Amino acid sequence: MPKKKSNGSDQLSRVVADARRHMQEREKTYREKALKLFPHVCGRCGREFSGKQLRELTVHHRDHNHDNNPPDGSNWELLCIYCHDNEHGRLEVAESYDNSRSTRETSESDFSQRPFAALEALLKSKTDGGPEGK
Ligand SMILES: [Zn+2]
Ligand SMILES: [Zn+2]
Repeated sequence: MPKKKSNGSDQLSRVVADARRHMQEREKTYREKALKLFPHVCGRCGREFSGKQLRELTVHHRDHNHDNNPPDGSNWELLCIYCHDNEHGRLEVAESYDNSRSTRETSESDFSQRPFAALEALLKSKTDGGPEGK
């Protein structure tokens, strides 16, 4: 049986790196799938995208759960980066408004979206496939 006696933080960072790569690959996959499933049109403003512009079209998760990727695309919506920003911006505003009394809840729900934001920023900088979503 394999005995690994490296210290925990070392393993943790490897696990995190693994998870990160995994997520990036999955995100690429679902974006491609979504682009095949849906017409290349922003679901909010109706702008059409093709060629190079296509990188401005991002996949939004209707339930905001990036792990929920049904193959039929029922949780996906194609949004241009501007409408996508709007979508999340509006939500954050609504959330902080609703939870104005308990700041703890606000920061918690905030936190659940932050890791993805960070990841996607990372993705953006690593691939030149353009913005991948929010
Ligand atoms: Zn739009
Ligand atoms: Zn989104």
